[in-house]
Amino acid sequence: MCGIVGVLGTLKASSEIYNGLYAIQHRGQNGAGMYISNGDNGRLVKGAGLVGSLFNEKTLSELEGSSGLGHVRYPTIGGPETVDAQPFALPHPVEMGMVHNGNIVNYGQLRDEMGLKLESKCDLELILNVFARELEALGNVTEDTIFTAVGNTMDRLNGSYSVLTMIPGIGMLLFRDPHAFRPMVFGKRISLDGVSYAAASENIVLDILGYDISRDVKGGEAILIKENRKVVYKQIRPEKAHHCMFEWVYFARSDSTIEKTNVYEARLRLGRELAKEWVKKDIHIDVVVPVPDTARTLALSMAEYIKVPFREGLLRNRYVGRTFIMPDQTSRETAVRIKLNPIIEEVKGKSVALVDDSIVRGTTSKKLVSLLKRAGANEVHFLSGCPPIISPCYYGIDMPTKRELVAANHGVEYVRSTIGADTLTYQTIDGLVNGLEREREKLCLACLNEDYPTQVREDIRKYFCDSRERDRTCPADTT
Ligand code: SF4
Repeated sequence: MCGIVGVLGTLKASSEIYNGLYAIQHRGQNGAGMYISNGDNGRLVKGAGLVGSLFNEKTLSELEGSSGLGHVRYPTIGGPETVDAQPFALPHPVEMGMVHNGNIVNYGQLRDEMGLKLESKCDLELILNVFARELEALGNVTEDTIFTAVGNTMDRLNGSYSVLTMIPGIGMLLFRDPHAFRPMVFGKRISLDGVSYAAASENIVLDILGYDISRDVKGGEAILIKENRKVVYKQIRPEKAHHCMFEWVYFARSDSTIEKTNVYEARLRLGRELAKEWVKKDIHIDVVVPVPDTARTLALSMAEYIKVPFREGLLRNRYVGRTFIMPDQTSRETAVRIKLNPIIEEVKGKSVALVDDSIVRGTTSKKLVSLLKRAGANEVHFLSGCPPIISPCYYGIDMPTKRELVAANHGVEYVRSTIGADTLTYQTIDGLVNGLEREREKLCLACLNEDYPTQVREDIRKYFCDSRERDRTCPADTT
């Protein structure tokens, strides 16, 4: 999972991109970068680490230009090395820089078929090279050939990709895979400085930078925002929407709105759906406690629905990020204790409903149940806002392999006893779809039902599995 930002025609692109990347730092903490265009050519700066540690006033002031792209990286394949960070740039057939959010399923196959010599393991380098080659094959670089090259590129790629391309002297190109797995919006700002455009993974970036949201980029669509501010829209391939349900459940910021569905409101509804499952058990509880931060909204609405007090029974260390760079299971377990600590007075002697957004490996869930019991909770009933995750994601969420997913090979009772909870209640897939208030067939639910919207061959599954286990030095969700 990653975050992208692009601006065109502003006073100081690097400052706006810096602020925009800060707003979506939650989408990736492993690396960051910018590609800034002065209208004639571009300059690339990137590295490993957080946005605030990579850029300062001096580096930003040296990045002169009114347009550019930015990226925060959360690798699904590859490690924390700078070579894998985005953006990437090429000088031919026209100078351009590119960023994306997503994951290319046929990465190795396509690289070999096209005989591409790539320097990194980042799939964006592949997308950029495929697009450049398609553009070169068409001769001149014009509006028409750019759109044709996007179509030819889409035909070759299998997977998720929300892409921003900056072509100095021509403009900013946006395109999104036909399934529209990963979000991307764009907007416009009219000020005394003139007309400028921006695009980003989440609309909050545009809100913060003062742009009016135009709309989400459609699946299979390309938009060329030219240097002269003319905007050209083209539906390159038919949309077959399969938006990732995990954006609303866990990944996106609560104040974001994705595909017209506000994330906070969706989480409130998911909490009510979870409550409907819980009441079937007919068990008395004294308090509803969230696992901070993403499950807070779920727990709040669940508590309201069942009319039981909502209490903060776990405190998050605000100076520790959402994820860590943890190389092995032992240090992941230590990390849980650093991140969260119980408020004993709120749980001691009580029957607690502990609500989290999801259960992935079960490692964190087990630790949290144990923490609350040691703090004196009489009973800990665990509730997951997401249905059982039984299969990996090949579309850009850094999930563990099937072997590591606790629910992949076992039933609910096994997971309950593994995490040590008194009871375990999962959201149902119907409850999830109802809570999101979206058409079921336009959602990706593949990690819940193994119904992948694109073909994922067995050898590709094995390649992903091997790569993820080998590269397990990247920030990993320990839930
Ligand atoms: S497999 Fe799961 S996490 Fe991946 S895109 Fe589909 S719903 Fe999202």
